[in-house]
Amino acid sequence: MVVSPARAILRALHDVMAAKTSAQVKLNAVVATVAEQLDSEVASIYLLRDGVLELFATKGLAQAAVHVTRLAMGEGLTGVIAATREPLNLAEARAHPDFAFKPETGEEIFHSFAGVPIVRREASVGVLCVQHADPRQYAEVEIEVLQTVAMVIAELIAGAGLIDDVAAAKARRAASGPVRLSGLKLVDGLARGTAVFHQPRVVVEHTVAEDTEAERARVYGAFIRMREQIDGMVKQADFAGGDSAEVLETYKMFAYDEGWSRRINEAIDTGLTAEAAIERVQARTRAKMRSIPDPYLRERLIDLDDLSNRLIRIVSGQLGSAASAGLRGDTIVVARNLGPAELLEYDRRFLRGVVLEEGSLTAHVTIVARAMGIAVVGRVRDLWTTIADGDELLVDGGAGAVLVRPTPATIKTFTATSALKAKRLAEYAKLRDLPATTLDGTRITLMMNAGLQGDAAALNETNADGIGLFRTEFQFLVSATLPRRERQTALYKSVLDAAGSRPVVFRTVDIGGDKAVPYMRDGDHDDENPAMGWRALRLALGRSGLMKVQARALLEAGAGRTLNIMFPMVSEPWEFDAAKVIVEEQRAWLTKSERARPERVAYGAMLEVPALAETLDVLLPKVDFLSIGTNDLTQFLFAADRANPALADRYDWLSPAILRFLRRVVAQCADAGVPVTVCGEMGGRPLEALALMAIGVERLSITPAAIGPVKAMVRSVALARVRAAMTAWLTDASSTIRADLSAMAAREGVALG
Ligand code: PEP
Ligand code: MG
Repeated sequence: MVVSPARAILRALHDVMAAKTSAQVKLNAVVATVAEQLDSEVASIYLLRDGVLELFATKGLAQAAVHVTRLAMGEGLTGVIAATREPLNLAEARAHPDFAFKPETGEEIFHSFAGVPIVRREASVGVLCVQHADPRQYAEVEIEVLQTVAMVIAELIAGAGLIDDVAAAKARRAASGPVRLSGLKLVDGLARGTAVFHQPRVVVEHTVAEDTEAERARVYGAFIRMREQIDGMVKQADFAGGDSAEVLETYKMFAYDEGWSRRINEAIDTGLTAEAAIERVQARTRAKMRSIPDPYLRERLIDLDDLSNRLIRIVSGQLGSAASAGLRGDTIVVARNLGPAELLEYDRRFLRGVVLEEGSLTAHVTIVARAMGIAVVGRVRDLWTTIADGDELLVDGGAGAVLVRPTPATIKTFTATSALKAKRLAEYAKLRDLPATTLDGTRITLMMNAGLQGDAAALNETNADGIGLFRTEFQFLVSATLPRRERQTALYKSVLDAAGSRPVVFRTVDIGGDKAVPYMRDGDHDDENPAMGWRALRLALGRSGLMKVQARALLEAGAGRTLNIMFPMVSEPWEFDAAKVIVEEQRAWLTKSERARPERVAYGAMLEVPALAETLDVLLPKVDFLSIGTNDLTQFLFAADRANPALADRYDWLSPAILRFLRRVVAQCADAGVPVTVCGEMGGRPLEALALMAIGVERLSITPAAIGPVKAMVRSVALARVRAAMTAWLTDASSTIRADLSAMAAREGVALG
């Protein structure tokens, strides 16, 4: 055996690849080189054609067998390698139960056999194998060499158009089979589509290096960048604690692992490009991963796998997400986590569902997905080992389930459930023109939340009483740069036009927290805990230029009508005053310069910081309305980060602490004659909405899809009875009243969807 077979082979293959010859001549040269370097009598390449493995080139077997010998996936040793995507290394090939004798090849004289799959985009597209007359196993290092050569062959045949992509994907699916994954239900809905990884795996195009020193420098630079990124992420997560901090610590450990970078450098030394070297080492890690029984250790190796993907993306400069590549058909996006802006980058025409490894109910990405009508399942484990890019997925948001590579029977059930759901939606649609009035005559105002151009169209579909929360920051999140005033005005005007006589409440920008916009990063306010940091009104008052522009845009859009403006995250009454002054200055300027302006401006504050509840007596006389943002409010009441998946189901919205707090605020507003609305996600769930009504809330602003179910609930309940029961429960309950309320609703026949 030669000292460094990998290097010698790659040097020889470099010339083969560079030659201006046909693919067949190149494949012949590859098998000749492999046979010589691995001191083997036989080296053969089988490629997948029309779903069958066909002998394409051989050194040592009968040449008459080329393009004649064909094996089905799973047939013979070659077929097994392709089907399992695992190498085989046997001292005595005939002893293996899957050995299949092909007389035309004349192979009976050989004993030992080793083969590796040729893989492209996670699918077998062929097999490279060697055979030897002596009954001896090939050495580990020789298998490594074969795997390296298989990468080069994959590149060669891809370049020559010899890959049977369709058959390869089909074979992989057949080998993997259907799987059901469960997670946390985040956004209800049924979705069917093709899995697309948010961070797509880079397909390595060039495997053989021209200049090893240059490749070494590229990988060195990529390591530095990757380490900077991970350090930055660790710093950000340090304060948040929980799962993500722990995961990142492991990432950091791997990112700085000398062993890993050394192995990549060794692979580069053999003559591979940086990308190919990283992938080669990654494949080795994966093989190790499969043989580790300890789930904890296996998961850590998945982190290393993820990090390898990141390193390949950096080194190849392919940094964009799948959104920038564009979607082609019904798609389910699969990601570790997503920010709301990242989600909004996807083409809404094709995005059907999202599957996340993390995620929580009130994270903004979930809210945005809910507004877009996209089913989301979060906290799904084993995503990376189970789902491959291009797999068919069924997402059942309501059940928190993801069906990977479903069987025809599962698809049939799923289609039936979809039809049932459509039927239920049709039932809700029948309620469209009926009032949201309880059996005992309380009229509940049902408004909807919106934030994107086109959302207002849902007003007509749902016949909601108006838009109770228009999140103006969504326009900022979808823009690459700060939206100019004209664009802001145009959006607000289009929403008001669509709403007609129905009211629209515009909330001024709530940027910061988990709604970070890259072009507005403020170096002085790099928050370690962004939800409680420099966000919303705090940021807007600090950058009054931004607020002035928005105020002008709103006032111009609202010309000739009543304009409702609401400020987010008011913590003390003076902040409301200061924000109002900014708007009033703009209004005075419009008046002075005799420009068109609203007939009336109504001002409201959002109650999402608990402290504000203590100064309501000061605030209420100043405001025209109040809106309770329960997403933020409850996270602060319970000191439980709304975006932290570990806390996602720890505290219940139906806990006495929350309901008592809200009851007090609602009563105080009633005394002061100030209308109060709840606009958090809580109000969009029928049972939670019932609880809110039972403590006196009569105005809800909810996601459009919830209008039907909540209206059905409202119209089926005798509210006074639930109010009485609620008073009793809140007197002595020590934890959530969910069970009591559900039981009562069931007894009373309340429609809960
Ligand atoms: C809230 O906090 O409840 C709210 C409605 O605002 P957002 O979810 O946009 O923070
Ligand atoms: Mg909020």
